[in-house]
Amino acid sequence: MSHTLLVQWTIVPRIAPRALIACNRCRTTRAFVPSGKTRLNANGRRLDAWLIYRCSDCDNTWNRPIFERRHVGDIDPADLCALQNNDEIFIEKVAFDIDGLRRHAGQVEEFPDVHLRKAILQPAAGSPIRLEILFDLAVKTSLRTERLLSAELGLSRSRVATLADAGRVAAIPPGRNALQRALKDQMRVVIDLADEADRNAILTRAGP
Ligand SMILES: [Zn+2]
Repeated sequence: MSHTLLVQWTIVPRIAPRALIACNRCRTTRAFVPSGKTRLNANGRRLDAWLIYRCSDCDNTWNRPIFERRHVGDIDPADLCALQNNDEIFIEKVAFDIDGLRRHAGQVEEFPDVHLRKAILQPAAGSPIRLEILFDLAVKTSLRTERLLSAELGLSRSRVATLADAGRVAAIPPGRNALQRALKDQMRVVIDLADEADRNAILTRAGP
């Protein structure tokens, strides 16, 4: 039986990336911003879908392909439904898909501002005494691990340091001063809370 609560902390950008492309009205390269609107076009059984971007200067539009000339039978019904209903979550997912944007825009503009999303990957069997956090980074960040742990778990930095000195905080993969360094994608931190009287409060703050 595992007495470990496993959570995932995902660091996601706050502002959707912009496309840097030539605006034919401005006659120069401009940042195009996602408008939050999509277009769906049917040609027989084949469909095109785009996310519409607007020039930050003149409002000119640019259509970023979501898919093109795709047979209706090859489209995920959930995606099709989301497109037909201008589903906000679906549109946001496309807008933040920086690799997808790069494929069509070549050059993109990213923003360093991030926020944190917490999810429970595996609840503990029985009462948890250990916390394991998996970091999932959609973007690179300069945030330091101990600083984030301190802020999000409601522990003072000196308490995090004391726990680490006592060997109660382990980073995977291990590294010298891993906690003092910037967070890395797919890094894990395991904290032994067996002796902490307030562990339930800490565990609650670790989840969503
Ligand atoms: Zn323009």
